[in-house]
Formats: sequence, C-alpha cells, structure tokens
Amino acid sequence: MATALTDKLSLLVKKISGQARITEENVADMLREVRMALLEADVALPVVRDFVARVKEKALGQEVLGSLKPGQALVGIVNKELAATMGEGVADLDLAAQPPAVILMAGLQGAGKTTTTAKLARHLIQKRKKKVLTVSGDVYRPAAIEQLKTVTAQAGADWFPSDPSQKPVDIAKAALDHARRQFYDVLLVDTAGRLSIDEALMAEIKALHAELNPVETLFVVDAMQGQDAVNTAKAFKEALPLTGIVLTKMDGDSRGGAALSVRQITGAPIKFAGVSEKIDGLEAFDAERHAGRILG
Ligand code: GDP
Repeated sequence: MATALTDKLSLLVKKISGQARITEENVADMLREVRMALLEADVALPVVRDFVARVKEKALGQEVLGSLKPGQALVGIVNKELAATMGEGVADLDLAAQPPAVILMAGLQGAGKTTTTAKLARHLIQKRKKKVLTVSGDVYRPAAIEQLKTVTAQAGADWFPSDPSQKPVDIAKAALDHARRQFYDVLLVDTAGRLSIDEALMAEIKALHAELNPVETLFVVDAMQGQDAVNTAKAFKEALPLTGIVLTKMDGDSRGGAALSVRQITGAPIKFAGVSEKIDGLEAFDAERHAGRILG
C-alpha cells in the first residue's frame, strides 16, 4: 500500500520546517505529491492536471502559505476539492416524468449494467415504493436477456421478454407500451454493450434514447477500469445526454480514481456505487468518503 498522502506531505513539511516560511516552491513540492497520489489512484492525466491547477490556485490564495500546518491545510483543500468535484448535484434517481418513467442504462459490456439494472429495480421498489418493469435490448446475447430475467426476479420486479429477432428499438417500444397499459411507474431498459466503443453500438443506443425519451440516462462504469474509463466516458457523453453515473465494483481494490475522471469528463453526477455482486450491493455515492479513498 502506498504511503498516505497526508504522511508524505507531513514529511515534506518537516523537511522545510527549518526554513523561515513556506514558499511557493514548497507548495510546488507538495502539489507534486498530490499529483502522484492521484496518478497512483488511476485518475487520468489530463484530469489530474486540471485538478492540481485548481488546487494550486486555492493553495496560493494564502490558505496554505499563511497556515501553521501547511501540509494538513493542503490535504484539507485537496479533500474538499475532490469531494466537491465528485459530489456536486448528487441525488437519487429523477422520476419526474409522466409514468412510466424510463431509465436507460448505458456502458460497455461487463461494466455491470444488467446487475445494476436489477439493483436499481430493487432500490425503486423498496425505497420508493414503485412498480418496476425491466427489459433487455441486448439482442446479440440471448444469455444477457436470460440474465436480466433472473436478476429481475431476485429484485422482485417484473421482466418484459425480448424477442432477439426484433430490433432493440422495437422491443423497447413494445415494453413501453406494456408498461403504460399495466400502470408501471418505471421502465428500466438494459442495453447491449460491446467490449470497446463501436459506432454501431452508439448509433443503436442513440436511437433507443430518441425513441424512449428517458428521464434518466445512466452511464455504468467499472471503477477498476482506471485510465480507460476516460475514453469510454468521452464516447458515451458525446453520444448521449447522460444524467448520472453508476460506479460499479467499488468493492474491488482499486483506489477509485475513475470516479474523478468520469465525473469531470461527463459533468454528470455520480448517483450510486456498486459494492458487491449481490442484488442489495448498491449504495448512494458518498463523495467525501470516496475522496479519502482516492488519497489513500
Ligand atoms: P454488463 O455486461 O454490463 O451487463 O455486466 P454484468 O451486469 O453482467 O456484470 C459483469 C460482472 O460484474 C458480473 O460478474 C457481475 O456479477 C459483476 N458485477 C457487477 N457489479 C458489481 C459490483 O458492484 N461489484 C462486484 N464485485 N461485481 C459486480
């Protein structure tokens, strides 16, 4: 395990404490440690640069220079800035739409879309007392349709059968029609993912978005993805007006730097964190706690 940022900064401060005062140069040394800590946590380089520039501005605004414990003051600034960047606007799912409210799930294959769809169904049933229907648009992998059926049953929600010979848009339209007639509050639409970004996939999910007019378009991303999360996030942001992020596999041993990268690149709030494979393994995202984890 890497030495915690606070410890590293304390060492630096000790080194310079013999000097009469903290200088801009010393702050630069400390910022270098901040940069290293973020890179170790797998935050993408351009995101780190931006972030450190913002922290520097604040640090030089006397908060650190004037402080008796500049190392701690800087860690405080970093923590606050991290939490603010990741946490602004965090909220539960928006259901302010004429029912059925549609929630569209987007992300790469293996990100955890199907699992998260079921976790959200359970959340909506238990916490918000909603009547929930799920449907899969993954006509390429019949196993994915079956997987959604299984996990939807675990969630206690209803599942709409997809005919793999139909187009995803037609399946979704049929599901929406059924949801309307049966007075469902929410329709969760799971979609096909690929192993990497591809144009056909993006065209398909855009078409689904145009047809369904979802109240939430959630980008599901694996917290273990690290640096790669940036490119994935960019591609999905360009294709869709994302309204929120779900960061999965937070129970893994990554420091979770992807949270900062994805938040900064999409501008969408991180709404939930996936913390196990189980149906109840979903938590509201806690930006402050996560800031501590990123800093190690
Ligand atoms: P999809 O291809 O995007 O639909 O991904 P899946 O929902 O099939 O998930 C891929 C794998 O990740 C499965 O083995 C899931 O059990 C697992 N998974 C999903 N979310 C989490 C999570 O939050 N924590 C852990 N440990 N595993 C998860």
